[in-house]
Amino acid sequence: MMIQQLTPNFSLDEMLKSPTASRKGFSEQFNPPATVIDSLTVLCVRLLQPIRDAYGKPMRVSSGYRCLRLNRAIGGAPKSQHLTGEAADLDMGSREANQQLFEFILDLHKKGLIEFDQLINEYNFAWVHISFKRTGINRNQVLTVA
Ligand SMILES: [Zn+2]
Repeated sequence: MMIQQLTPNFSLDEMLKSPTASRKGFSEQFNPPATVIDSLTVLCVRLLQPIRDAYGKPMRVSSGYRCLRLNRAIGGAPKSQHLTGEAADLDMGSREANQQLFEFILDLHKKGLIEFDQLINEYNFAWVHISFKRTGINRNQVLTVA
């Protein structure tokens, strides 16, 4: 696949990659509809890149878009925003680093610099979920999933 940068620090490849989808042969994971690419682009332009620019350190996306079969295979929520390319999971490698990133994102939001649909602390900072709606209203919800 050709590397297509969505923003300076985020590529389409990175938003689609999934070891599970590769292993199980879910080829549609790597050839998403144009609307999904549009949503991933908006997610990166409006949210991930501004966070990255302010944070000043690489951010690892552990899960971006998920095709239906992948979402089912990993037990994702049936209406997960990962299915539409509107969400990304961020994992900085430790709970401490994930909590630090979460608080940094919250601080950017409180300063009025970014908005999001949902920011979720997943399982005591095992990872951070963040989403941005391409159309409609972004709710700026901060949630904890235990
Ligand atoms: Zn997620």
